[in-house]
Amino acid sequence: MSSVFAFIETFEGQPTPTSWEALGAGKILADAWGVPLAAVILGEGASAVAQTAGEYGASVAYVSEDATLKNFRLEPYAALLTKLVQDHSPKAVIAVSSNRSRELLAASATDTNSGIISEATDLSADGDNVKAVRAVYAGKLISEVTSTGGTVFITIRGRAFKANEPNAGASVDVQTVDAALAEDAISTKVESFEVAKGVVNLGDAAIIISAGRGIANNPKDAPADAEDATVWKAQDGFANTLQPLADVLGGAVGASRAAVDAGFIPYAHQVGQTGKTVAPDLYIAVAISGAIQHLAGMRTSKLIVAINKDAEAPIFGAARYGLVGDMYEIIPALTAELKKRLGK
Ligand code: FAD
Repeated sequence: MSSVFAFIETFEGQPTPTSWEALGAGKILADAWGVPLAAVILGEGASAVAQTAGEYGASVAYVSEDATLKNFRLEPYAALLTKLVQDHSPKAVIAVSSNRSRELLAASATDTNSGIISEATDLSADGDNVKAVRAVYAGKLISEVTSTGGTVFITIRGRAFKANEPNAGASVDVQTVDAALAEDAISTKVESFEVAKGVVNLGDAAIIISAGRGIANNPKDAPADAEDATVWKAQDGFANTLQPLADVLGGAVGASRAAVDAGFIPYAHQVGQTGKTVAPDLYIAVAISGAIQHLAGMRTSKLIVAINKDAEAPIFGAARYGLVGDMYEIIPALTAELKKRLGK
């Protein structure tokens, strides 16, 4: 019997926060085809993660904790995924889109001469094939893609699919598999990881509050010894106006490229064509005009709210709710009201 594979990405033995969404998307297809949903979990701690995968809907888990798979490396991961696909002929292999999963699925699809659909935001079964929806041309067009037979590899956009409701204690058939490559056949080594300071994981955030160039229009005066008054005002705006709103909502802070290029905030916060692509439940765009390159990174957010003093700003065309006015008047009032209502 065939199956649907969901690749569960892990880092240092822990599943990445969105990885269960691969099982959520996989269940749509597995249920439609009446086939088992199998998790593929490689690396340190894979067996423990497999138990949780069972709770999130996997009936089978292929795991390997071989030393060669401790940290993600394309060659050993792709070789083993390819072998599993050759051995089990799944109808689909799904992973949540990330730098790693994109290269892994692309390599394995190539090795197995299979098709690949990237960045799907919706999936359904079409007979034996898969119908997927994906945004193209920076979100300007939505395209519908149908696979044409054989195993189809699919990366799904993070937060586009829900994880299945966990079923505590659900059982899973854990099958331990051997690595497909020996260490001396692998040409790269991972020496160490260094966690970058000030990094924000926008991809996993359910709420993002982003600000643009207009944040520098801070009515506060910069201190006389400030190196650059504009940068000081913008940074003060991020720290003392935007961050408190993010804190009360439990959200992450994003930015436009104009704000990043001007040195107001590090690149890790940039949303857009040359920054992060995000799809949170709530995206609040503050003092951002709504250039196409910014929209490319956030237009699939579930709810978009724009705050801008220019009623003609294009961002209002993408937003469900818009507030026209000065962010330095609106945001403190909004933060204070939310604090009251949320009891914070
Ligand atoms: P602006 O366009 O200058 O808009 C500032 C806004 O702030 C205005 O709408 C103004 O009305 C408002 N404002 C000012 N003061 C206040 C206030 N006190 N209260 C409320 N509103 C106020 N951009 C990205 O964001 N991400 C990308 O990844 C990206 N990639 C790019 C790639 C390429 C190849 C190119 C060419 C461009 C890219 N850009 C990207 C840049 C993009 O074209 C825009 O220049 C940029 O998004 C503009 O940023 P902004 O909206 O912050 O600034």
